[in-house]
Amino acid sequence: MTSREIRKQFLDFFASKGHLIVPSAPLVAKNDPTLMFNNSGMAQFKDFFLGNGTPPSKRIADTQKCLRVSGKHNDLEDVGFDTYHHTMFEMLGNWSFGDYFKKEALAWSWELLTEVYKLPKDRIYVSVFQGDEKDGVPFDQEAWDIWKAIVGEERIILGNKKDNFWEMGETGPCGPCSEIHIDLRDAEEVALKSGKELVNADHPQVVEIWNNVFMQFERMADGSLVPLPSKHVDTGMGFERLCMAIQGKQSNYDTDVFQGTIKLIADKAGKVYGQDKWTDISLRVIADHIRAIAFAIADGQLPSNNKAGYVIRRILRRAVRYGYTYLGFREPFLHSIVPLLSEQFDGVFPELISQQDFVAKVILEEENSFLRTLENGLKLLDKITVDLKANNQTVINGEQVFELNDTFGFPVDLTALIARENGLSIDEEGYKAALQAQKERSRKDASTSAEDWVILQEVDKIEFVGYDEFETVSSIVKYQKVQNKQGTQYKVVLDKTPFYAESGGQVGDKGTISFGGVAIEVLDTKKENDLIVHFISDKRFESLVSDEPVKASIDLARRKLTNNNHTSTHLMQAALKQVLGSHVNQKGSLVNNEILRFDFSHFQKVTDEEIAQVEEIVNQKIRENIPLVEERNVPISEATSRGAMALFGEKYGDFVRVITFDKNYSVELCGGTHVPATGNIGLFKIITETSVATGVRRIEAVTSEKAFEILREQEAILDQLNQLLKAPKDLVKAVASLLEEKNALAKKIEVFEQEKLQATKERLLNKIVSYGSINAITEVVEVGSADALKQLAYELKAKVGDLYCVLGAEVAGKPQLAVMIADNLVADKGLNAGQIIRELAKEVKGGGGGQPFFATAGGSDVSGLANAIEKSKTFVNA
Ligand code: ATP
Ligand code: MG
Repeated sequence: MTSREIRKQFLDFFASKGHLIVPSAPLVAKNDPTLMFNNSGMAQFKDFFLGNGTPPSKRIADTQKCLRVSGKHNDLEDVGFDTYHHTMFEMLGNWSFGDYFKKEALAWSWELLTEVYKLPKDRIYVSVFQGDEKDGVPFDQEAWDIWKAIVGEERIILGNKKDNFWEMGETGPCGPCSEIHIDLRDAEEVALKSGKELVNADHPQVVEIWNNVFMQFERMADGSLVPLPSKHVDTGMGFERLCMAIQGKQSNYDTDVFQGTIKLIADKAGKVYGQDKWTDISLRVIADHIRAIAFAIADGQLPSNNKAGYVIRRILRRAVRYGYTYLGFREPFLHSIVPLLSEQFDGVFPELISQQDFVAKVILEEENSFLRTLENGLKLLDKITVDLKANNQTVINGEQVFELNDTFGFPVDLTALIARENGLSIDEEGYKAALQAQKERSRKDASTSAEDWVILQEVDKIEFVGYDEFETVSSIVKYQKVQNKQGTQYKVVLDKTPFYAESGGQVGDKGTISFGGVAIEVLDTKKENDLIVHFISDKRFESLVSDEPVKASIDLARRKLTNNNHTSTHLMQAALKQVLGSHVNQKGSLVNNEILRFDFSHFQKVTDEEIAQVEEIVNQKIRENIPLVEERNVPISEATSRGAMALFGEKYGDFVRVITFDKNYSVELCGGTHVPATGNIGLFKIITETSVATGVRRIEAVTSEKAFEILREQEAILDQLNQLLKAPKDLVKAVASLLEEKNALAKKIEVFEQEKLQATKERLLNKIVSYGSINAITEVVEVGSADALKQLAYELKAKVGDLYCVLGAEVAGKPQLAVMIADNLVADKGLNAGQIIRELAKEVKGGGGGQPFFATAGGSDVSGLANAIEKSKTFVNA
């Protein structure tokens, strides 16, 4: 059975059991401060378990793209070394939200595995939670009884809290689980040792494939467990492991999910998979990592220097360096795998094929820059090696290894490998200590803590009314006290709020919440798991909070300026498509009350003429005063058929909000706030156009007051220039002729200086003093620059044999000295200009140096010049 069929059968099976099949959420987690990437199928349904929303169906199934490279679930270091952990993998899952429970879930998983997929029953083991006294959770008798009837007691294993109690994070929904393991060893090995003994023992052929979690508790911040209002099922099955089992393989990488990519990479490298340990590890690492990288980029997460972007960059670099070290790749290669992957996932995760070129180009650029880093690291390492050998040492110290890694991106294992090749080693303990010290530093920076939410009332739904109302009477639903970088903060949830929570690039509203006469400032508003959270720092909040009504008011002036910028972003995006072409796609945006910033795909610099055209179109649309058409509940299919562009990496519901400014000009899916008509914006002005990543340009622009202010500032500069130049008829011509005059004068001065230099030279030639065979010229002269002094010394050298020449001059108020000595004097008499100048420089309170035949110095005391010249004679007057 092909992997495509296996995936399809899973979804068909659960559809036949009444499940709604939904698409995978994007790889990059949105609106969840506790999660960077989706790391399990349930992440996108978290709210439903917490009771913060209603699922579209009580039964749901899907395949979810997961990434386990950070936070609580991090498998990165195992990937490539073992054969069944990936960075990105697909998790097949089925869910019950307060509907069926353990009995149906377990029976269906058995039916699917053994009857649909026909996996051998005698190779399957299951586990049941044994209970935990400390947590007060009992042994899962119910699951035991169900399994006993299906597989018999001898196939059930009891599991402890670590293996059989699933928790999403430090806090949140959790519950006992029941895992399904499969034994894929050869018959001979099975005969020698029972698979039951190898369950949960890290055996690569006795692996967990499916986990059925029974969500019945919520873990509170103080560690206690509280029962959830209703019980749920959450299951997750590793798709790649399932394919290994069904296709009769002993490694995920031997299935058709990975074989195509492995073959492609192996061919490129001129290697064969399955013959050499490090070749194989590297092929697995690359075949795995390219999936994580490509899908993350397709879902909108570009590699970058911080946060999620940095995680992706590190994965990419890990792949490149395995290719570099073990497969001999010196040129970019990862990007060339993208087309194969796109095709493999066509129809499953369409976001890749539709952005294939873009994704490949981003990867290519990253590869190029990292390969350059590797070369630079190698050079640095060469230098360290030479220094060590010169000092008869053999160990590269830990700080250096850390610095190579941290500052130059040079991987530790590569440093170790190259060290070994040079007969050196690295101080691993020292490296670990340096790493630990840095972790401590960043942990301190990021440390936050939170108390439990204090719940004042139960509500079904949190209402956002801020599209229409800017001030409401509301009441507090719950609040939480947190400690973070800002100190103590309160997160407050209202039953009804006019505050827009940061999303879709638009900043959150500021404003106040008033308790009777006391208004407390709201500093920011953010979304957390679909809750609208108001952030407050004012400590008076704690004494004021109650279940009495409060007044919530936004800072309306700030909101209106933000509206201007948001609407302008829409107008500009449409203009960009007109001017540059339909390939322009949004890659990021920021809208606040001061500025709008828009990142989009485009491969060249936007020219000045194109910028001017975009400004022209947008301002034209502003003058047309086009009214806002806002529709709040449009079926997504209708919205897209009307030309509204959905963003990759965004999750949309079945019904969407559509913002239209002229149905033939700008139609967008958008949750943000806008002006009632475009005329409100007044004026639009682009201020910068730059590159943020390969194929991604960034435009920053301002509107209304800010745009006017900028034009005013420019006008003021022109006014000042006009005044300085005495109000000429034509300012540009006046400046141009000024520059012309300046250049002509500079040329004249140059001629004069040369003439003067020649005259000085003639004068000096008449002042030669002989000390034995030495011809000495020691004088203070007048020249225009240090360069002229140098030129003079060289010209004298060309004219006079056996020359000892010391010149001093005042240049722009500072003393300058130059010493020139004929080569034969240097050789025969041991005279050294470099040493002499250091002595002379003391007289002018300065310093200098140079070569034995020529040296210069500068100083700070002009009055010492004559003394320096006198002193210079003592070196030859012996
Ligand atoms: P393991 O102990 O093997 O790491 P887990 O306990 O972390 O698994 P769960 O969090 O229960 O796994 O995830 C559900 C299923 O997802 C697992 O049964 C497994 O089939 C699959 N899975 C988990 N982690 C990975 C991974 N890194 N790569 C591929 N599949 C995975
Ligand atoms: Mg795990």
